[in-house]
Amino acid sequence: MTYTRVNDGNRTEMCLSVIVPLFNESQMIAPLLSRLTAVLAELDESSEIVFVDDGSSDDSWSQVSQLPLANNEYQCIKLSRNFGKEAAMSAGIEHARGLAVIMLDADLQDPPEQIPLMLEQWRAGYDIVNMKRRKRLGETWFKRFSASCFYRVMNWVSDSPVPENVGDFRLMSRQVVDSIRALPERNRFMKGLFSWPGFSQTTLEFDRDPRFVGETKWNYGKLFGLAMDGITSFSFKPLRIATWCGVFTAFSAFAYGGWVVSKTLIYGESVAGYPSLMVVQLGLAGIQLLALGLIGEYLGRVFVEVKQRPLYLIEEVAFRQSLSQVKPN
Ligand code: UDP
Ligand code: MG
Repeated sequence: MTYTRVNDGNRTEMCLSVIVPLFNESQMIAPLLSRLTAVLAELDESSEIVFVDDGSSDDSWSQVSQLPLANNEYQCIKLSRNFGKEAAMSAGIEHARGLAVIMLDADLQDPPEQIPLMLEQWRAGYDIVNMKRRKRLGETWFKRFSASCFYRVMNWVSDSPVPENVGDFRLMSRQVVDSIRALPERNRFMKGLFSWPGFSQTTLEFDRDPRFVGETKWNYGKLFGLAMDGITSFSFKPLRIATWCGVFTAFSAFAYGGWVVSKTLIYGESVAGYPSLMVVQLGLAGIQLLALGLIGEYLGRVFVEVKQRPLYLIEEVAFRQSLSQVKPN
């Protein structure tokens, strides 16, 4: 393993870090770099690009780790396998040195041209600049519908609301980044973690472009897992709802039981009621299994937390620094 620790003493020299997670994005790197570096070159602030290769099997890593030394500074971090976008972003956050940090998808769905507008808000004193999608171009109605259901449920159960249609594309100040880095949990639902620290926030609207090339790395199974992570790691409310369901069912059962007993005592009762028995039994079994599954979801996450495994493993870190930015020793 080749691993160079980032020198914390350098931190204040870097103004902006742009974190780009990569998973099999070799076709995207050249178009992304040409747009991103054009934007960064126009800025007054010094900037770096932090590429996190999340275990790509194509040549994404060889491309980013051998970038020509232009007027930019790059940190390229190679994870030892695919740990998922949330872990890749955590690795980026851990290594970013900037006073402001921006998350950017590699597929050009988040236009780099928005960066100067985001920095303007940061200079005006905001700690978080959320980027809200005005339209979700290139997405099916089902994805839009499921996303909207997710935000509704998430914001109903969670104490730190996640702004709707705000993805991972956002700017965070050093203070926010340091608060997120201090969070010890393994379960990295980044949209929730980003909004957890609070601080002063503003939201800009932008049009999210369709993916430039290739396909989304998320299928509905993965998205469902992410939604469950989000809900269970930010709220106990589902458990509270299960408790209330239990209370309601128990009281209804007592009342119904009382009624059946008194009816039998008063009028006598011939054996009857197969349909009602089945309905009650199946209904109760369903509710019990649901509640068990829910407890299981929480328990599984506690299991992951207590193991305290690292979020990701780094195989290699490469620095690409332009000669104009190398400081004499
Ligand atoms: N990504 C990643 N690891 C993964 C999946 C995705 O680092 O396991 C990166 C991917 O390379 C891209 C970003 O996360 O830069 C967003 O991925 P994608 O476009 O597939 O997601 P979507 O835009 O559909 O949410
Ligand atoms: Mg995308």
